[in-house]
Amino acid sequence: MSRIDSDRIIELRKLIHYYNKEYYVNNKSLVSDLEFDVLLKELESLETKYPDLFNPNSPTQRVGGDITKSFDSVQHKYPMLSLANSYSKSDIEDFDERIRKIVDIPFSYICELKYDGVAISLIFENGQLIRAVTRGDGTIGEDVTNNVRTISSIPLVLNGEFPQMLEVRGEIMFSKSAFLKLNQQRKIEKLPLFSNPRNTASGTLKLQDSSIVAKRDLDCFLYAAYIDNSKFHKVFDHYNFLSSLGFKTPPIDQRFIEQVNDVNGIMDFINFWDKKRGELPFEIDGIVIKVNEVSLQNEIGNTSKSPRWAIAYKYKTTQVKTTLEDIIYQVGRTGAITPVAVLNPVEISGTMVKRASVHNADQIEKLDLRINDVVYVEKGGEIIPKITGFDISERNTSNLPFVFISNCPECNSKLIKDDGEAHHYCLNFYMCPPQIKGRISHFIGRKQMNIDGIGEETVEQLYNAGLVQNIADLYKLTKEDLLPLDRMAEKSAENILVGIENSIHTPFHKILFGLGIRYVGETVAKKLSASFGNINSLRIASFEDLCSVDEIGDKIAESIVDFFSQDYNNKIIDQLLESGLVMETEVQKDSNHSTIFKNKKIVISGTFKNISREELKTIIEENGGKNTSTVSKTTSILVAGENMGPSKLEKATKNKVEILNESEFFKLLEELQANDKTKQFKQGELF
Ligand SMILES: [Zn+2]
Repeated sequence: MSRIDSDRIIELRKLIHYYNKEYYVNNKSLVSDLEFDVLLKELESLETKYPDLFNPNSPTQRVGGDITKSFDSVQHKYPMLSLANSYSKSDIEDFDERIRKIVDIPFSYICELKYDGVAISLIFENGQLIRAVTRGDGTIGEDVTNNVRTISSIPLVLNGEFPQMLEVRGEIMFSKSAFLKLNQQRKIEKLPLFSNPRNTASGTLKLQDSSIVAKRDLDCFLYAAYIDNSKFHKVFDHYNFLSSLGFKTPPIDQRFIEQVNDVNGIMDFINFWDKKRGELPFEIDGIVIKVNEVSLQNEIGNTSKSPRWAIAYKYKTTQVKTTLEDIIYQVGRTGAITPVAVLNPVEISGTMVKRASVHNADQIEKLDLRINDVVYVEKGGEIIPKITGFDISERNTSNLPFVFISNCPECNSKLIKDDGEAHHYCLNFYMCPPQIKGRISHFIGRKQMNIDGIGEETVEQLYNAGLVQNIADLYKLTKEDLLPLDRMAEKSAENILVGIENSIHTPFHKILFGLGIRYVGETVAKKLSASFGNINSLRIASFEDLCSVDEIGDKIAESIVDFFSQDYNNKIIDQLLESGLVMETEVQKDSNHSTIFKNKKIVISGTFKNISREELKTIIEENGGKNTSTVSKTTSILVAGENMGPSKLEKATKNKVEILNESEFFKLLEELQANDKTKQFKQGELF
């Protein structure tokens, strides 16, 4: 390795980190985008040349790409407490009084904005980001480091004088503009829109693919530093210290933080931001008030849940009054009934609102909403406004209690509401039009079959014309079918048919997701396809088989068994297979491996002398067998290692499962392989 190259790598990393910080933290563009890209490209090519010099904190790693299969749990060194809430001046006075009972010397408060985001803890060792952990339950959070590395305003490498170990706390969030941009993009891609920036930020941090996180433009403010034997005297010292290391801290000069002496000072700050918060580039949901002196914070202490020396003040969200004109119902793809309030149109923070969410029957009952009531409508961080109550002084005695429908508004079948379920459901899965149309739309979606050219309106047309009554019908469509439809030009008909034709090659897991089995989302579909390999094995899988798959619980297993017990569904799947869809994973088609363990479910337990558990599992898979984790009637072999659990052995004996120890297993493998070879040889001889 050339010394010059390795020096250059270090130099480039430093330089790019610096430009990056100036841009994302200090809002200063020191170089043009082009110059920046040239440097980054140079670094990329040097890093490709010298893979030994890989560093997870290199600026090239910001684009993401690492996949996190499951997020490890991490215990917080210092618990991440949440704040108690307050809603009024008298709550703040009570808070102040509680503090003054404990502290009898002069002290000050720090007021800060309460960012509507997700709390994060960042751990730096020797100035390098080594871990980022979510708050979780306050004691244990999840390791989301890969995703956090992609957030441009978080430094991966620190400047200045840093302690060997440093924990930094802050809030990850969307700016209003980044959130808007994200939804605009989703609209183009015909994906459901996100309604709430905070939930979306939290969901984004848990995405498995960090390259998607990188594209979403999350931002982060850092405001607290944790160091053993910390010498900070005041909350303010945290800011100055963090800022000196290159962190993006809330700007002091814009009154994001203020030191005050009493309740009046606190209320001034609260009232100032109540008026001005609409102008901020990000959402806040309140103000945080902390005792400024660190020594006093320690003296005042914490409850088990929250510090006693700090409190959050929550703003009321924008609220207006209007008349509730009606409640209508939407029937979803799964048959869930969602009531929607129809309002006398009213303006809330600049937008005209005609509909509001009322969630479900329980919610309507809880709020005691009645048609013609004057209701309060609120729009907080969410895009969809909600009804929060009604004005009793304006209730007319002729407004009668609301009665939730008992039959489906679309197909008239009786609605069912199970205990523990929030929604009423229409169970007329096969005949209820919005469910059928919903399933077809779901099937053709971008993450499922990705069929271009068919939007929801086309689905409606195809359904109404009687051309497509289920997903299998799509593959029977002809140009002659399509052309008579309204506004269907020759070109669009061709596009639709090409889109359908191309979708035939969709991978199994996407088809499986597209089938719309309740609780089988994208991730579960991937797990099922990897572990069952093809649709026929999945179709005959028992409840126990399904539960033995990692992360498949009772509810999902039950739903899958139920789905495949219906003739209707099996018929559709058969038709899809006839149309040429391949419902098996690529691996299965690869016939380099033997099939001597075909259809055999094998459980391995305990530890082995000559082979690791992972290696053993690979051997089983390579020979066509299936690794399962629990012993049941359908288990073929239990490979028993040392120190295996007694319950597995007991279950295996009870269910008459063949039990082999390590050497017996390899003897069997050898025998079977030998037979397999003879068979191949004999077949060869015939030619
Ligand atoms: Zn229905």
